[in-house]
Amino acid sequence: MTVNDTAGDGMDRELTLMAVHAHPDDEVMGTGGVFAKYAAEGVRTVLVTCTNGEQGDGPGGVKPGEPGHDDAAVAERRLAELRESVGHLGIGHLELLGYRDSGMVGWEGNGHPDAFANVPVESAAARLAELMERYRPQVIVTYDENGNYGHPDHIQAHRIAVAAAEMTGIPDKLYYVAVPRERIREMFEFLRSSGMAPDDFELPDDFGTPEELVTSVVDVSAYVENKLKALQAHASQGENIPMLQMPPEAQHRAFSHEFFTRKTSRVDAPDHEDDLFAGLRD
Ligand SMILES: [Zn+2]
Repeated sequence: MTVNDTAGDGMDRELTLMAVHAHPDDEVMGTGGVFAKYAAEGVRTVLVTCTNGEQGDGPGGVKPGEPGHDDAAVAERRLAELRESVGHLGIGHLELLGYRDSGMVGWEGNGHPDAFANVPVESAAARLAELMERYRPQVIVTYDENGNYGHPDHIQAHRIAVAAAEMTGIPDKLYYVAVPRERIREMFEFLRSSGMAPDDFELPDDFGTPEELVTSVVDVSAYVENKLKALQAHASQGENIPMLQMPPEAQHRAFSHEFFTRKTSRVDAPDHEDDLFAGLRD
């Protein structure tokens, strides 16, 4: 449905982009470019990070559950890295919901009562709704229903973002980060040929976003360097970030465009657009 807002409400407020992410470091690959680009254009930018990333690697690559993994120290380090990343991307406002990282599917941390994935959707959504009321973003970006790759915290971030958007009725356009299937396939082939992915690992056929669901492609090639620096800021998670080991040409190719599925829009915008604010500018 398209509604033209002739009363001016919504059209005269400051253009604002909000992205809702699960962990420190998630802001970079799918949305780092749009953050940097829109911030440079004077759009207000807000990153909401739902968890503290406690289930990330500790110093020396020590994994959660292994001796020497200190949740509090990991969280502190990752939040410092997040602040550095936010600086490289020019993000104006960082909002931390402070929930506990649930860990990957099947990890022991999944069962922790405070884990983000176990928090009732209504209560976390109510907190996010307050931030939506405060910033009144016309554009909100989050993950798809599957959290883009099945991580319980990404799925929960999706759920609370959609619930808060419905509760408040604030965003004019709601997007899911898209990871086009073809791009993943290319990247995976590259990782395998360079020995960075195990030979026996096969990409599931349904991995990634089918091409026909991608509505919006934003050229962020001018901001590849910002994304790279932001990703490098998350150095403690370096082992889990294969993009950091790729040669510069492959990085440029992987970082230069960001893809989205537009789920809802109350403004007139083309079916295929190259600007998340299409239909929202004077
Ligand atoms: Zn994540």
